[in-house]
Amino acid sequence: MFQNRKSPLHNLRFLFFAVFLGTGVFFSGCASTPPPPPMPNFRPASVMTVNLPAPTTGTKRDIYHVVGPYESLWRIAIVYGKDMDSIMRDNQISDATKIKKGQKLLIRNTYGPRPNIPLYPTTRWTHIVIHHTATDVGNAYTIDSAHVNRGWERGMGYDFLIDNGTHGKSLGQIEVGPRWLKQIDGAHVKEADWNKKAIGIALMGNYSENPMPAPMMDNLVFLVATLKNFYRIPEQNIVGHRDVPGAATECPGKLFPWNEFKRRVRMY
Ligand SMILES: [Zn+2]
Repeated sequence: MFQNRKSPLHNLRFLFFAVFLGTGVFFSGCASTPPPPPMPNFRPASVMTVNLPAPTTGTKRDIYHVVGPYESLWRIAIVYGKDMDSIMRDNQISDATKIKKGQKLLIRNTYGPRPNIPLYPTTRWTHIVIHHTATDVGNAYTIDSAHVNRGWERGMGYDFLIDNGTHGKSLGQIEVGPRWLKQIDGAHVKEADWNKKAIGIALMGNYSENPMPAPMMDNLVFLVATLKNFYRIPEQNIVGHRDVPGAATECPGKLFPWNEFKRRVRMY
């Protein structure tokens, strides 16, 4: 279903203004609340995003969304095609800045989440590393908690997670991690210089034991092609964890379909 979209970047200029205006509305709507503390390298005013079109088929339904690490209500509203005020009303939230990771939010009358990729103007990202979690169930919240418990106070080591339909997430849902939203180093490969230059994308599941479900592959291709085109990452710099020099792992799994993946990213 994505083959017709030759390049999502055609729409970037438009999306930039849409997002910029959206951000303005958001901040002006919360003028009475104090601004969040400044974070180094976190520049929301300059962020651009690329969306796949919102799904318009299937049945609209009410779902519960588990707030991911560092996820804002503004992002959640975009992902579900809702306006922030209605989500706040349905969940009796009076201050949009007060949502917490792990909190369950009722999202009424939605077709479900759509992929939304924030893109930051920088030259630091020259590589992409694909991982699998090698665990059967979870989401960005559970992985973030596990990584924090391991002593990584900056949270989930991957920049993006593609869900496998467990822990309340949709099959193929793309979750954006806190490190990507803050544009700080990842923690997904041992080699420190790779964590500075490589975007880490993890697939929930074990792809040495199971084939990857098609919706996960579709959204992985969309995500990787979007990042590759925006950051001008050469194809040979898009690798599996096992192909990082010095790595001793079969991640992202023996059954990961490299040929199909590379062909589809090239054609996107
Ligand atoms: Zn890995």
